[in-house]
Amino acid sequence: MTYDSENIFAKILRGEIPCNKVYEDDFALAFHDINPQAPVHILVIPKGDYVSMADFTASAPADLIVGFFRAVGHVAREQELEQPGYRILGNAGDDAHQEVPHLHIHIFGGKKLGPMLMR
Ligand code: 5GP
Repeated sequence: MTYDSENIFAKILRGEIPCNKVYEDDFALAFHDINPQAPVHILVIPKGDYVSMADFTASAPADLIVGFFRAVGHVAREQELEQPGYRILGNAGDDAHQEVPHLHIHIFGGKKLGPMLMR
């Protein structure tokens, strides 16, 4: 899938629409999901034009890949989710109901999260 630079997360990255920012560095931006599915629901996105994990891991430079995953871990620690625990999730493509075609990792926490696959 080709990257659509008008997707909502691209606009957030360019500062064209606001977000409730949690963390930012050279490689990633983290912000609260606008429609939270758990008491803590944060999205982490890489600073680059990547639709999916397959696209990102095949095409992104190594420092961006490392920086993005460090940012996910940093946010989990900073939000004090290591204990009692949290879940990370990434949707890719139609079967997973990926809505926004810019790679993003969801971080869920703040309650007992139940079975792994949410309806
Ligand atoms: P997906 O289904 O693509 O994995 O998840 C997209 C997520 O982005 C959804 O949880 C949705 O609530 C969130 N989202 C969509 N538009 C916006 C927005 O403009 N701002 C924020 N903060 N989250 C958004």
